[in-house]
Amino acid sequence: MRNVKPKKSLGQHFLNDKNIAKRIVNSLSYNGYSNLLEIGPGKGILTNELIKKNLNLKVIEIDNESVEYLKHNLISIRNNIINQDFLKINLFDVFEGDSYAVIGNFPYNISSQIVFKIIESRDYIPEFCGMFQKEVAERICEDFGSKKYGILSVLTKAFYSTEYLFSVSPSVFYPKPKVNSAVVRFTRKQKYKLDCNETSFFKIVKTAFNHRRKTLRNSLKIFNLDDNLREDSIFDLRPEQLSVDNFVKLTNMINSYNKN
Ligand code: SAH
Repeated sequence: MRNVKPKKSLGQHFLNDKNIAKRIVNSLSYNGYSNLLEIGPGKGILTNELIKKNLNLKVIEIDNESVEYLKHNLISIRNNIINQDFLKINLFDVFEGDSYAVIGNFPYNISSQIVFKIIESRDYIPEFCGMFQKEVAERICEDFGSKKYGILSVLTKAFYSTEYLFSVSPSVFYPKPKVNSAVVRFTRKQKYKLDCNETSFFKIVKTAFNHRRKTLRNSLKIFNLDDNLREDSIFDLRPEQLSVDNFVKLTNMINSYNKN
């Protein structure tokens, strides 16, 4: 059958190094769940390794041509291929509410959206692991105080521990990407419920980082901060200076004043 011609618009950079595929697949713990979802299997280099783990494996792939390829070449999963856009599906439905891990060599153009979507479904995703553009991997893993620390770092760290596992050079992909890559593992924290209203927390983090150079006093004006509250020294800070715990504290401060 015809080979799959890589499509730039879908972020298709096929990995062609089996050892790296094995390393990525072996980055998950395979502990505490019996289901696995791969995002963007492409021609199945990771899938072939994942099959060996003998878990309940499903893959989601948007590209019809790749789906046809997989159906012909990876017979054992032909009934477990979801031919849809990952960003448009309901993650609860994939394993009918059962827990699962997620893995993939992610399409870089939507990798942040993939992470945000998984975070929203944290209740049933205890672990995930993926290949990212190196800069994105660094941003995810960065701690507060760093210039790279941003929305992605805070929202991830609120619920998952992140580990930058290893870097990957462009030469192991076809076609070669213009950027370096890196693999990150996300392990859900034991306690992944925040001690504050989580909807407000998301809104405050996003608003603060939308104006990352401004102090919180300026960037959070839309929350109609009470005059007394606004004098608190936490509002002298800029968002990259706040840990997750500080953002939780800030959320509680703002919410308790707004209630009065
Ligand atoms: N896992 C393969 C392919 C990685 S390239 C490998 O390592 O070689 C990224 C893959 O994600 C491509 O197959 C692309 O078609 C797929 N993809 C891109 N956007 C997607 C989306 N929104 N939903 C599901 N799959 C997507």
